[in-house]
Amino acid sequence: MNIFFREKKVFGEIEMARPSPLEVYALLDKSNCKDCGYDTCMAFATDILERKIRVQDCTHIMQDPKQVKYQEKLIKLITPPQKSVIIGTGDHAVTVGGEEVLMRHQLTFYNQTAIFMEIADDDADLEEIVDYLTNLKLERIGDVLMLDGIALRNVSGDADQFKLAANKIVKISDLPIMLCSFNPEVLMAAADEIKDKRPLLYAVTKDNWEQIGKFAIENNLPVAIASSNLDELVSLSATLQKFGVNEIVLDSGTYFGPGNLSVTYDNIMQLRTAAINKEDGNACWPVMGVPAAYWSKVKIGNDKEPWEHQYQEVIMAAIMESIDTNLIVLHTGQKKEEIWALLALMTLRQSVFSDPRIYPAVDPGLYKIGEPDDMAPIFVTSNYRMTKIPVEQDLQGANLNCWLLVVDTEGIGIESAVAGGQFNAGGIAEAVKEFNAFDSVKHRILVIPGMAARLSGALEDEADAYVVVGPRDSSGIPKFIETQWKPEEFMKEYESWER
Ligand code: SF4
Repeated sequence: MNIFFREKKVFGEIEMARPSPLEVYALLDKSNCKDCGYDTCMAFATDILERKIRVQDCTHIMQDPKQVKYQEKLIKLITPPQKSVIIGTGDHAVTVGGEEVLMRHQLTFYNQTAIFMEIADDDADLEEIVDYLTNLKLERIGDVLMLDGIALRNVSGDADQFKLAANKIVKISDLPIMLCSFNPEVLMAAADEIKDKRPLLYAVTKDNWEQIGKFAIENNLPVAIASSNLDELVSLSATLQKFGVNEIVLDSGTYFGPGNLSVTYDNIMQLRTAAINKEDGNACWPVMGVPAAYWSKVKIGNDKEPWEHQYQEVIMAAIMESIDTNLIVLHTGQKKEEIWALLALMTLRQSVFSDPRIYPAVDPGLYKIGEPDDMAPIFVTSNYRMTKIPVEQDLQGANLNCWLLVVDTEGIGIESAVAGGQFNAGGIAEAVKEFNAFDSVKHRILVIPGMAARLSGALEDEADAYVVVGPRDSSGIPKFIETQWKPEEFMKEYESWER
């Protein structure tokens, strides 16, 4: 029997009910003993649903003989329909899956797509590449973006070479590892060497499930099942679960070429829909994709430049991120000159996986940039996170010494807030007063963004200030300072005004 949706459905049409804090509360001791650090059991119930704490944090349900019987019920109640899988150990361990909704706007996604970079076990530059990838950190709007893991491929076909490469990686990197080989002996030999690092074993197939399954159970390791046939994939999942494997990732294949993109997309969505909307016990696992497969499955001729091939791979990876594929394996991005690929994918991922329930706002206030003197400019901006942080970074990047006055616009960006009235002369004047903006300088000049130019007249009256219209984009501020920032002249004009 096929358990998947074959007909077209509007995703999100069927929504599974989420447990309520009251249902969790009903299973707790209700003594409000505070052992968990919460004042009440109800507060604990609310935060456990937000995954801020774990069942183990309630001492009563873990130790009190009268309460222990509810432990299993509570774990069952709060386990998401798509289970999560942990790869690796320590601070860098990565959790994949564990989602409750098909679409982010229905609640939020809890775990972003994990990006693993493939490396061949016979690559002469293996150590250099691993070192580069481990230390790769990109900072963007207040977040540090990093790679999540390394997928070591047994390209050599040699068990000793695979073991050697796995050992080399764990010596120089704490990134989680996925070991990739369809030969169970080769796979298990390398996994045995680094099992304490909790690698993901890729791949279980219909031909090797028993061997790899047994090894995974003995060593408590997660496995990835690979099959292009969805019925076979979930059937293998059912078999492995009955066998005792308790962490599984599903790979339904990544296909390139005309018409194949839709097959890849459809398979991933069918698996996610079966897990999340149908709560299918065999499909209830994270889903992975391998955009790196482009390089092995498509015949690469001389008709294209190398970057055009890379482009195809990155497009597939971007599509996969957009539909919450829980883990992807890339080929492009290994080398420093391929940083563009990771920049694009990490930026997209940051946007897709931001929590829609968290207001994208920062605290209003007066922020000091560098070491401003008495005549340093005061730039005015909104408290939308994606506005304030890039503006601040542009000012810092240009080594400017100035002040940044962040006005409460309810977390809305400048252009929309000017149109919607949240960024207005009265509000800016109030912020000037509240944060004593002019106490730190010996002038009364405000620089407002070009997009808010029409507020300048009203703001001069409301804030009793000389208002200068700055550039539309903060990247133009250094040039603005160089060519247009003349505080003494502005103040002369301000002082000449009739009041
Ligand atoms: S430790 Fe358990 S019983 Fe005590 S307050 Fe926390 S949730 Fe309630």
